[in-house]
Amino acid sequence: MAENMIIADAKLEMWGYALGFTPTALVKCAIDLQIADVLESHGGSMTLADLSAAVNCSPPVLRRIMRYLVHRLFFKQTTTSYSLTPLSRLLIRNDPDSMAALVLLESTPAMLAPWQRLSLRARQAEGSPFEDEHGRDLWDYTNANAAHSKLLDDAMSCVATATAVAIVDQYPEAFEGITSVVDVGGGDGTALRILGKAFPWIHGINFDLQHVVGVAPPCDGVEHVAGNMFEAVPKADAAFLMSVLHDWNDEECIEILRKCKEAIKTKVMIVEAVIREEEESKYSDVRLALDMVMLAHTSGKERSLEEWEFVVKAAGFSSFTVNHMDAIAALIEAYP
Ligand code: SAH
Repeated sequence: MAENMIIADAKLEMWGYALGFTPTALVKCAIDLQIADVLESHGGSMTLADLSAAVNCSPPVLRRIMRYLVHRLFFKQTTTSYSLTPLSRLLIRNDPDSMAALVLLESTPAMLAPWQRLSLRARQAEGSPFEDEHGRDLWDYTNANAAHSKLLDDAMSCVATATAVAIVDQYPEAFEGITSVVDVGGGDGTALRILGKAFPWIHGINFDLQHVVGVAPPCDGVEHVAGNMFEAVPKADAAFLMSVLHDWNDEECIEILRKCKEAIKTKVMIVEAVIREEEESKYSDVRLALDMVMLAHTSGKERSLEEWEFVVKAAGFSSFTVNHMDAIAALIEAYP
């Protein structure tokens, strides 16, 4: 009997995996229909009739979609109306905490297709399903696809906002006495915008590929510089690398870190997850899932402390410290 119960529970659990894309698809659908934005602009609460009219949907279909999203805690339902919850607030596009772009990026056909090839990737030590699928790596692909590039920049900006705020709150001392920072692979400059506001004495150089900095919004105190981090990195007091090294294999990481070491006077700050298999935390799931995302989309990986030590030492740094944060990422500081 007990065994039957376990099998029944396992079967129910397996339904979740079989239909596992449903929640992501419905969140993307809610973003596409701008349900959260419309609720927000109507004071946070609307009837089905008003909401259907505002988002141009068939009321009976929208009612089913909303029933699912209410069940998943995206919206609250009273007898007459729907309203926002903390989860759906993260879907409001112009909200500073918005994570809509991240959901949209990860649910594009371009990012989803490589997942079908994961089992093939498991048989090779190197390579990336993304490259097998698209015939070029993610960066060449974004260079040729302006819309995908914008989506990637916006998605990274969501992640960068949360992590930069965590650094400002939890390790402000990291920026004491630092006069200039080059953000290597800085994307649209989001991190430097936040760091520059918190530490206004810092001159920021946002360094990324031409197709990224070419469309990055201007920002006071931040200079956008285009280039290739495998060739040379602009000189600064310190370098900052956030969500960059995890995109690359060890050899490539060591090369990037060497270029950073040549460019700086004081230290290189690496902001990345540190995988700690021995310690479960509320971030473990996301960190391990991100490692799988790296497997699907890049040549990189999420690294353990030992793996970070290996690349940092191999790049010629004499010492490093790891500052764990209440965040997905940690702040690793490497000294020449
Ligand atoms: N640091 C940002 C962006 C991380 S995404 C953030 O945390 O949000 C990785 C970034 O590396 C992208 O913006 C990508 O354009 C950049 N990148 C990839 N190859 C690069 C290269 N060869 N030189 C400089 N930047 C590069």
